[in-house]
Amino acid sequence: MPVGTAGTVKAVPQDALETLGAQIILSNTYHCYLRPGHLAIGRMGGLHRFISWPWAMLTDSGGFQVFSLSKLRKVSEEGVRFQSHLDGSYHFFTPEHAMEVQIALGADIAMAFDECTEYPADRTRAEESLRLTMAWAERSLAHFRANQNQAPWAHEFPGRSQSLLGIAQGGMYRDLRRESAERLVAMDFDGYAIGGLSVGEPRDLTLEMISEVLPMLPRDKPRYVMGVGYPDEIEQYARMGVDMMDCVLPTRAARHGLLFTSEGRITIKNKQFAEDQGPPDPNCDCMVCRRYTRAYLRHLMQAGEALSGTLNSIHNLAYYLGIMRRVRESMELAESSAQS
Ligand SMILES: [Zn+2]
Repeated sequence: MPVGTAGTVKAVPQDALETLGAQIILSNTYHCYLRPGHLAIGRMGGLHRFISWPWAMLTDSGGFQVFSLSKLRKVSEEGVRFQSHLDGSYHFFTPEHAMEVQIALGADIAMAFDECTEYPADRTRAEESLRLTMAWAERSLAHFRANQNQAPWAHEFPGRSQSLLGIAQGGMYRDLRRESAERLVAMDFDGYAIGGLSVGEPRDLTLEMISEVLPMLPRDKPRYVMGVGYPDEIEQYARMGVDMMDCVLPTRAARHGLLFTSEGRITIKNKQFAEDQGPPDPNCDCMVCRRYTRAYLRHLMQAGEALSGTLNSIHNLAYYLGIMRRVRESMELAESSAQS
């Protein structure tokens, strides 16, 4: 899922996302809540209509941004009080309120409100954090189930409703991770996510936690690993059976001139590309690689042109979506040859 922070996948227009074949995008609840506001978006028919994206969409719970961006946050059993990073105004998020915000935004998939356990966290801290996340998961689910038919578009599409995914936490402790997964599955969410990864831990630990939790999550519901990763990681996790991932990396790196290509990563700013007439990636057929040269992309970046971020982002997203497409195709092939 390309990440659309504030109702936009930064620098990439929606028609380009469609051309790239993006099937679903992620929008950040925290950003949309602060600006322009979930009530305003709800009055305009929800996020799909507001940003003109008729395809699938997921909103995160807001929890991760509350913990990573906001100032002066104070966590209690009830919820999180925090100060906006934009204007310093005070806000209070409870699991119930996080559900109300996500119902007003109206994405197809909403996420339970959780506390993203920081890394490193000692055992006592991870246990306490997990206890809170599990209590919040129950409250999120109860409030969501009671109100899930109230999305701004509900009257237009009778019979359709939003889905809610639970989030497994537990820090880097295998038994806490297992406990988390077990309790969530018993609550019966519409799908399950593994959160609190890619927060600074070494990669083998990320893999260990995914390997621990994934087999415990039902295969017939979406299984989502949040906030990963590098191209080789997402391929590895997808082959393990992860259905969904999101990461700001392809677009954030693009704006800094880092391109992912079939020949490895390149820093397009480098002088060696000043007169390079080749495409950004010779094995990519995205709209950028078909039309523009490395020399031109380097020039746009050097000149600080806005188009730079757009073209770099489009290519990186094409690269990421291409990985996932190939994984899907090879799995379908494996399945059909197993049947025949
Ligand atoms: Zn390309």
